[in-house]
Amino acid sequence: MSKVKYYYDSETLSYRKVERKKGRTFGAALIFIASSALMGLLITIAVFNSGVDTPKERKLERELANMSLQFEMQEKKLDQIERVLANVEERDNNVYRVLFEASPIPNDVRLAGFGGVNRYKNLEGYDNSALITNSAKRIDQITKRLVIQSKSLDEIAKLAEEKEALLKTIPAIQPVQNKDLSRVASGYGMRVHPILKYRKMHNGMDFTAPPGTPIYATGDGTVTKVGLGSGYGKMVIIEHGFGYKTYYAHMSKYNTKVGRKVKRGEIIGYVGNTGLSSGPHLHYEVWKNGKVVNPVNFYHNDLTPEEYDIMLAAAALENQSLD
Ligand SMILES: [Zn+2]
Repeated sequence: MSKVKYYYDSETLSYRKVERKKGRTFGAALIFIASSALMGLLITIAVFNSGVDTPKERKLERELANMSLQFEMQEKKLDQIERVLANVEERDNNVYRVLFEASPIPNDVRLAGFGGVNRYKNLEGYDNSALITNSAKRIDQITKRLVIQSKSLDEIAKLAEEKEALLKTIPAIQPVQNKDLSRVASGYGMRVHPILKYRKMHNGMDFTAPPGTPIYATGDGTVTKVGLGSGYGKMVIIEHGFGYKTYYAHMSKYNTKVGRKVKRGEIIGYVGNTGLSSGPHLHYEVWKNGKVVNPVNFYHNDLTPEEYDIMLAAAALENQSLD
């Protein structure tokens, strides 16, 4: 507390208190605050420059060093994850997708980043911003690549399921027993018609066999016709799905009904000589998506590569068909 000062007033002949001016008090306070602040600043600078850390600072420094180390380790793990993922993606594109006839997923789709707004803005402005942002970006990209890869595998699983169904239904055996391949009488292509006697497109393959020889469904499917066909005589048509149909003509007897589900190898009728036919035989056709195709390519369950060559040669002979 400051002293109270007095002075002698010669006019009133009395002692009076000396009044302090407000401005002066404020000035003194200002000087006091300024000097304290300066002192504080000097001490702070001194402490910082002396290299002496407070315990709290030392703890923070340790934590920072630890985090940096963890980030470095994390980056190495990310390297490893990216390598494994790249390998899975490569196998997916070059093996699995190729196997199931799916087009490969282009790299620019697999590796596409996130466009638009800056998703990493909140990570800006720190000493380690670049490192942390880079890590965050890599993790985001890995996540996206995993989603794409997972979808690709879903697609392949579906294709594999379809492939299994396709393998069961696609025509894949000879329609009559023909172990020594001696029954192949005429192939697909331009042939002289045995009755009309001029060259004409022969839409199928002829297998000679005694009347009554069993005829087999060449793939799983549904019987859609059992009856007479123009020129075909007594015939059966099976629809296999996936765009495939097979025709069996000139039968003597049927062994199936329209609407019946048949399995590959099931007897659907017997060899005969009905319709435009020059002798007992089976005329066999394969159709794909509404177009007749060469049946010679649809015996893969039956033939070894060598037998296939023999079959090809026999089917290629430009002989007269039995029709
Ligand atoms: Zn024929």
